[in-house]
Amino acid sequence: MIAGNWKMNLDLQGSIALATELNKHTDNFKCDVALFPPYIFITEVMKELGHSKIKVGAQNCSHSENGAYTGEVSASMLASVGVKYVLVGHSERREYHTEAFEVLRPKLQLALKYGLTPIFCCGEPTAVRNALMHKDFVREQLEECLTGFTHDEIKRIIIAYEPIWAIGTGVTASAQQAQEMHEYIRRHVGEMYTHEIAEKLHILYGGSCKPDNAKELFLCPDVDGGLIGGASLKADDFMAIIDAV
Ligand code: PEP
Repeated sequence: MIAGNWKMNLDLQGSIALATELNKHTDNFKCDVALFPPYIFITEVMKELGHSKIKVGAQNCSHSENGAYTGEVSASMLASVGVKYVLVGHSERREYHTEAFEVLRPKLQLALKYGLTPIFCCGEPTAVRNALMHKDFVREQLEECLTGFTHDEIKRIIIAYEPIWAIGTGVTASAQQAQEMHEYIRRHVGEMYTHEIAEKLHILYGGSCKPDNAKELFLCPDVDGGLIGGASLKADDFMAIIDAV
């Protein structure tokens, strides 16, 4: 899968133009492709895509089912407009909105309850990587958020490994670093659930993935695709990354 996280970029016209351009090339797509526009443009982008192979996801959802949560958007609202995926626990949400497992677990549960596919993001900051504690850090993130699901539920969750030092920095993880962590995540989820479940788990890589490094990353046996930020904002770059799969 290739997922394009537009973050807080583009306006309505830019969002529609990008969706329109990508939609012209879906015949060449050999993997699942999803776009994650800002909430406010989701329905317009979906209208533009029509019955496309390209699906639409949200960058976040509320940890509550409904009620007095000004400014929030619930999983059920997203499902009601036809959204298929939702990012949960992106490092920017964790950092700027202090999201931790107390809210991330309910987000995952609500996404699953309303039929969305959650993409659970995990990954370590620079200091943790430099201290060679990255595996412990990510293991803790997995254990805090991904325990207690049924086998049917855990099978529906996609994981994105996104080392924070690689997000938006231009510094990407090497294929070796990505493979090491993806293999570790898969093995650990296997220990938490079953190895059969872990084998089928989709683990995306995110962090400065670009056309010139995508192929090498996607060749890693445990890298099942990418969560793309900056490079998803330019149709040519995003399509080149899709081609690399
Ligand atoms: C992201 O924020 O999910 C991401 C991968 O960003 P970028 O590709 O810009 O590093």
